[in-house]
Amino acid sequence: MTWLTQLARPDIVALKAYEHAVWDPELERLHANELPWRSHADESAAGLNRYPEPQPRALVERLASLYGVSPKSVLVGRGSDEAIDLLVRSFCRAGQDSIIICPPTFGMYSVSARIQGAEVITVPLQAEAGFTLDTKAVLEQCTPDVKLVFLCSPNNPTGNLLSEDAVISLTRALEGRALVVVDEAYIEFSGAQSLARKIGEFPHLAILRTLSKAYALAGARCGALIADPEVVSLLRKVIPPYAIAQLSMEAVLRVLDPAQLAISNARVATIVSERDRIQAIFAKLPNVTRVWPSDSNFILVEFADVPLALARSRGARLLIRDVRGYPGLGRCLRITVGATEQNNRLLEAFQ
Ligand code: PMP
Repeated sequence: MTWLTQLARPDIVALKAYEHAVWDPELERLHANELPWRSHADESAAGLNRYPEPQPRALVERLASLYGVSPKSVLVGRGSDEAIDLLVRSFCRAGQDSIIICPPTFGMYSVSARIQGAEVITVPLQAEAGFTLDTKAVLEQCTPDVKLVFLCSPNNPTGNLLSEDAVISLTRALEGRALVVVDEAYIEFSGAQSLARKIGEFPHLAILRTLSKAYALAGARCGALIADPEVVSLLRKVIPPYAIAQLSMEAVLRVLDPAQLAISNARVATIVSERDRIQAIFAKLPNVTRVWPSDSNFILVEFADVPLALARSRGARLLIRDVRGYPGLGRCLRITVGATEQNNRLLEAFQ
């Protein structure tokens, strides 16, 4: 047992996984209590009368190749939200263990921890330095009870990438102490390289990726954890056996076909150029007091009068995200970069 497994909940390590129905597409299935006929309304390729393959091999292999890692290092889940939940449930004992988060950041890390009964230790990003990681403070706060350190890069809702050097030096310092989870939900919009290439060097580094953003598949609910095979095996015991719906899997494989991928990449480039265009205009608008640089598909904007900005965007039939509840963002709104026409409509409403 390596220190990584020792970090996990001993009862999960000892847990015997549920034995799902054997997967053998060569044979006919009278072993899973399914109906033998598909519904007439069933438009799936495989037939929805059948349970899907647990951790579908074709999907795992496709995602592994997309992310440049071995299939053994990939766990597919219902969005990266599920991977966050699985990590917390597998590593944190209720009432005993903790996670570290660096606010203002994505809300699900702390929600998952609280559901599990794990403590949430906060080490704020350094706002005045552009929401940078406070490596020293994270290390100081990383007591033996801390099992997971969640870092979000590019960070939601601030939009910035964390420095790769800072993340790596923190990861190096946390060897033998905690699992470092880097959530790269928005990395495709940043031009930066994923840290997934470092998991061989640092087995206690885990990366979260999602198809919900750059690949236009938020409705399919598909995300991945990229981690040491030991972590993947552990989480496979906790994820429900047939988590990935057949229809989602078929949709994802279609979207990740090379021709479709080329379209996705072009769309990401369009969003990035729209982001850069509107950012410059936002900075000059009345009522706007600050626009932060963004490496993602949204921008963080500070307004003098937030209710006015919200009313104006609603008037233009556009929803934007109120992030005033996050520490340090008392007058801020988060705006997703839309299609050119939508962006122009929002800019006009704010003039
Ligand atoms: N991580 C971050 C930083 C996010 O912003 C989101 C969605 N808003 C998620 C993870 C979850 O995405 P999904 O479950 O759709 O993969």
